[in-house]
Amino acid sequence: MSRDRRIDVVRPPAFVYRREGRGALRALFCEQADLAWLAARFGTPLYVYSAQTIRARLLAFGKAFRSIPHTVCYSVKANSTLAILRLIARDGAGFDVVSGGELERVLRAAPQSAARVVFSGVGKTVPEIELALQSGILLFNVESASELTALGAAAARLNKKAAIALRVNPDVSAKTHPYISTGLREHKFGVPIAEARKLYAEATRHAHLRVAGVSVHIGSQITDLTSFTDALRRVAELVRELRSSGQDIRYVDAGGGLGIPYREDAEPFTKQLAAYAKAVMEPLRGLDIHLLLEPGRSIVGPAGVLVTRVIYRKTNHEKRFLIVDAAMNDLLRPSLYGAYHEIVPVQLGLPSSISSSSFSPSSSSTDARSRETEKVDVVGPICETGDFFARDRELPIVREGDLLAILDAGAYGASLSSNYNTRGRASEVLVDGTNARLIRKRETPEDQMKLEVRS
Ligand SMILES: *Cc1c(COP(=O)(O)O)cnc(C)c1O
Repeated sequence: MSRDRRIDVVRPPAFVYRREGRGALRALFCEQADLAWLAARFGTPLYVYSAQTIRARLLAFGKAFRSIPHTVCYSVKANSTLAILRLIARDGAGFDVVSGGELERVLRAAPQSAARVVFSGVGKTVPEIELALQSGILLFNVESASELTALGAAAARLNKKAAIALRVNPDVSAKTHPYISTGLREHKFGVPIAEARKLYAEATRHAHLRVAGVSVHIGSQITDLTSFTDALRRVAELVRELRSSGQDIRYVDAGGGLGIPYREDAEPFTKQLAAYAKAVMEPLRGLDIHLLLEPGRSIVGPAGVLVTRVIYRKTNHEKRFLIVDAAMNDLLRPSLYGAYHEIVPVQLGLPSSISSSSFSPSSSSTDARSRETEKVDVVGPICETGDFFARDRELPIVREGDLLAILDAGAYGASLSSNYNTRGRASEVLVDGTNARLIRKRETPEDQMKLEVRS
């Protein structure tokens, strides 16, 4: 393969190549910010997010569901950086949290949004439940009989009335990666619909619980929309049943899970969303409910890239490796799920004045660099064979010191990162037009050790 279509793969309109000056160099931008410039200024590895993309995708959600009363409760775990939460709250969205820590983040970033928070998760502890009760959240998505008991007791102690939905397990396959599929009977999530009926009746009798909705969330990175329809059909049936037995069901929480195209942007997001909205709303027709949505990945995923620098090139036997300064601790998805992320050079081609200078490209000629590809593994420095971003990937030829952008890294990137190998977590930058702002500093070794006993 001498010419690869991947050279032109970007995520328009936020991530596009622009021609620099009069030379042949094309540089990848995030909105009006040159990624190479950001890398020089803030160092690598570096997460860069497009504010305009996040806003546009939120707006698109609102539009797709405009025919039904709804609230978009952004799923905090997809990207929980405070500045991102603040940006999302500014557009009137609520939040879906799965831990007390995430709720603390929402309260810090957007305290005015507390009344638009839904609390999901199979293992809410009593302190977490109490924090949520004190914060006046919108809805608890209860996932077991024991949790219902604990919530009722906590609400009684604090003299609050907790609005609840049961997260039902609809026993439908989301046809996604097994680690992020959650709606089958063998999964730990939700309660079976048969048991839910009993628990709703119990909750109604409790003085400190208020039955308010039915919830479902069948998994993540779902591209087969019929799974959503199947799940919501079962939910709709339950809503009718509960209402006929006198329960006041106002909310249907359809969860998150809408997948994004990691390989190529085949369809505009608005079109994809229209199909998703249809799949979700069709089973709910005529129900007169307020719909809650919990998208995470589909809001922030394509809005972020991870910029990394090639430290070394290396050939072992026949195999070529690009060893980059980002690693599985920064972006775990390839290691954890075998996930595919598009990888593109931040700069393509070089002005002829530079190509003939002392730079010594490892390929035959610098000019060829912009067109020719080679098969490489892109790997990090961590001592694990699982530490890779791409295997046997056909990429434009790059040299040591060059920058690469790993695309679609806005969701489950920074939020899944760790300190493995005592690597500081990457810095994060939010770009809005021409303005690029550091929203999280690079972690230092001191930051990492400060909670530990020193002697
Ligand atoms: C993770 C999660 C979401 C978000 O899923 P996405 O695939 O990122 O849209 C929504 N709701 C719940 C309960 C979750 O656990």
